[in-house]
Amino acid sequence: MARVFVITGPSGVGKGTLIRGLMERHRELQLSVSATTRAPRPGERDGVDYHFLDREEFERRVDAGEFVEHADYAGRSYGTLRSELEGRVRAGAPVVLEIEVQGARQVRSSVPDAVQVFIAPPSLQALRTRLIGRGTDDPEEVERRLRVAAEELEAQPEFAHVVVNDRLQDALEQLTAVVADELEGRGTTLEAQPGKATTK
Ligand code: ADP
Ligand code: 5GP
Repeated sequence: MARVFVITGPSGVGKGTLIRGLMERHRELQLSVSATTRAPRPGERDGVDYHFLDREEFERRVDAGEFVEHADYAGRSYGTLRSELEGRVRAGAPVVLEIEVQGARQVRSSVPDAVQVFIAPPSLQALRTRLIGRGTDDPEEVERRLRVAAEELEAQPEFAHVVVNDRLQDALEQLTAVVADELEGRGTTLEAQPGKATTK
């Protein structure tokens, strides 16, 4: 059966970096391209990094039921289009969603057997350093994202798998192990092992 992998966690924690590494190791994985109302960053391409939509078009698609999940994040809307997910799942391809926590919760209801991994920072200070170091967000946006992050971190116990991205290489090994186990049918779930909140 095709698997859906949800990679969540606060902005700047390293989700994108880890997913790039993961996809090099598991070339069968396909990344769902999300829709957003935020403006493209320099170098981002429409249809590749995101489907960039204006608010009216995003709302129209919400009303038309075109999203599997959608959420407001730091004043912008983000969502996973059914068209990104369903064709790939039907074709049997394992799909990766890189989404924030509210979206992950919605997927938990609509795709209960999706494998959800929360990526946690070693500290809020490390998160701040990474967000500043990435250089994509102005200081006000960095602070907005850090405020959201403090709330998102409280959601950590909801997730069957938590990977702390301290040393990148270690985190990548852990994430790859979770995905490999699931793809090979050896995965565990929160239900299977109550109270377990870390990766094996
Ligand atoms: P996200 O996709 O979660 O917003 P990114 O993958 O863009 O995060 O990473 C944010 C920044 O942190 C990037 O500049 C990235 O190179 C850096 N980074 C990622 N993982 C680590 C790590 N383990 N240690 C230090 N810096 C990291
Ligand atoms: P960014 O603006 O940095 O690209 O993304 C901001 C946040 O939105 C990140 O935490 C990212 O994971 C999340 N995000 C990206 N795409 C989606 C999506 O389709 N749905 C949801 N719920 N969140 C998303």
